Amino acid sequence: MAKKFKIAVLPGDGIGPEVMNQGLRALDAIAEKYGHEFETTEALFGGIAIDKTGQPLPKETIEICKQSDAILGGAVGGPKWDNVEQNIRPEAGLLGLRKTFGLYANLRPVKLYPGLIDNSTLKREVIEGMDIMIVRELTGGIYFGQPKGVMESGTKGVNTMVYTVDEIERVAKTAFGIAMMRKKRVCSVDKSNVLEVSKLWRNTVERLAKQFPEVGLSHLYVDNAAMQLVRNPKQFDVILTGNMFGDILSDEASMLSGSLGMLPSAGIGGKIGFFEPVHGSAPDIAGQNKANPCAMVCSVGMMLKYAFDLNEEHEAIDNAVSAVLEKGFRCADIAAEGEKVVGTKEMGKAIVEEIK
Ligand code: NAD
Repeated sequence: MAKKFKIAVLPGDGIGPEVMNQGLRALDAIAEKYGHEFETTEALFGGIAIDKTGQPLPKETIEICKQSDAILGGAVGGPKWDNVEQNIRPEAGLLGLRKTFGLYANLRPVKLYPGLIDNSTLKREVIEGMDIMIVRELTGGIYFGQPKGVMESGTKGVNTMVYTVDEIERVAKTAFGIAMMRKKRVCSVDKSNVLEVSKLWRNTVERLAKQFPEVGLSHLYVDNAAMQLVRNPKQFDVILTGNMFGDILSDEASMLSGSLGMLPSAGIGGKIGFFEPVHGSAPDIAGQNKANPCAMVCSVGMMLKYAFDLNEEHEAIDNAVSAVLEKGFRCADIAAEGEKVVGTKEMGKAIVEEIK
């Protein structure tokens, strides 16, 4: 059935607008193929918003987002804004957006496209068939807990890892819900052998798991999880973890699949989700038609699935990216020596043709 959705589009800085263009082309192709209507409204976000309004997340942008069914982001930041005040840096806009829209769960799929098997630093037999979803808590934990700061005349630094039962339950529910759509396994990662907050995390996850009797639950300490991810990543289906552990593990896992340019993400939890590539604004290659648009295109795919419940359309995007890689299309970041390299636009065009 044809559907209609409103999308706020925040291209941002550096390669953000370049990859966003290709993401929107893929979205157009989906609209055409399935008869949906996607109404997009562009808004200022990040460094470009600072230049034009003095704020990385202007009120007008928040309003446009509030009136949308989902938000698509490119990337923000760059050397031009490295020295502006901390609270109006482009990255502060990102934190502001997460907070404004209550995006407490960050989903990062880490999957290996068969065409890229030789791009990983790990052996083929270790990674072939790997398909992991990391669910990272995003608005709590040690990055936000109080007290924090440098104290006692600069002789003591403090950060505090805090989680409430409510915060743990809601992100755990997200992880179990996603596991139900996958292989029905959740591995919760904590440090409950040392940290009280992690004991609460583990007990709460155990209790919540009873609501999802079909899902198998296991636990790992974070140090072991870091090791298992490179030893045997195929053992994982959904990994559920807190903010800092998730930050570290998802970067580790990103290398399993070859390149930052391949990794999409979703911030969900509130009424409106935020979908963006994992990578930043890549100032070193901005404006040169070199950026790999796959992460952005796959973020559009995640939006279709997690915001609009369009599963077939999500798969159409994923299959198109996979097919294009199988056919040998490579941006510079995923090209092996001697392979022919295509630019951002050419890669986008190939994906669109494949969707059609
Ligand atoms: P980065 O992700 O921008 O780049 C790291 C390396 O990966 C660079 O060599 C870059 O060329 C390459 N790369 C990244 N995306 C690529 C793509 N799609 N195709 C090909 N190559 C790609 O990280 P960085 O250099 O640490 O940060 C640059 C700026 O981006 C900083 O201002 C940082 O704060 C910001 N940043 C923003 C976000 C976000 O918007 N969510 C995330 C991370 C970093």
